Amino acid sequence: MKVKLLFFPVLCLLIACQKEPLITLVDGTEDFQRSYNGVDRDLWIHFQSFENEGAKRDIIIDLTDADITGVIEQINEDQVIGQCNYYAHRPNHVTIDQSFWNQASTIYREYVVFHELGHCYLGRPHNEAAFSNGICRSIMNSGTGACTSRYEMKTRNDYLNELFDKNSR
Ligand SMILES: [Zn+2]
Repeated sequence: MKVKLLFFPVLCLLIACQKEPLITLVDGTEDFQRSYNGVDRDLWIHFQSFENEGAKRDIIIDLTDADITGVIEQINEDQVIGQCNYYAHRPNHVTIDQSFWNQASTIYREYVVFHELGHCYLGRPHNEAAFSNGICRSIMNSGTGACTSRYEMKTRNDYLNELFDKNSR
C-alpha cells in the first residue's frame, strides 16, 4: 500500500515535466512548443510557424517527417544570408547566416527562414515578379533582382498566401 501511494505523485511529476512550454508565435498566437531534430533551437519557432501557416491554408506540413534540418552559422559568401543545400548525405538543409541573425528583427528572421523553407520544403525556385510600385510579389525573390522586399506584419498574410498558393509552386 505504501508503494502505491509513493508511485502516484512521482508519475504526476513525470507527466508534468513532459508538457512543452507555451510559446507566442510571430502572428501572436500561442502554441505548445514543438522540437525539431537536427535543427538549431533558435530556428524552432520559425519552423513551427511555417507548419502552422501551412495548416491555416489547409496544407499539412511536418518538417521533421520531411527531414528538413537547419543551422545558424557563418556563411562565407558576400550578400548571402540564407541557403537551402541539397547535399547528397543531407538533403534539404537550411543554413542561416550568423551575422545576419544577430542583427535581424524577428520578422526579418522569419522572412529568411521561410524563404529557405520555400526552396527546401516547397521546392519553389526564385520569383522576381514585382507590383507596379516595384515591391516584390513573392518572398521567393532572390534579393539580387530589381524588386524591393516589403515583408512586415501588415504584408505578412498576403506574402504567406502567395508562398503557400499551389498556383505559385
Ligand atoms: Zn533563395
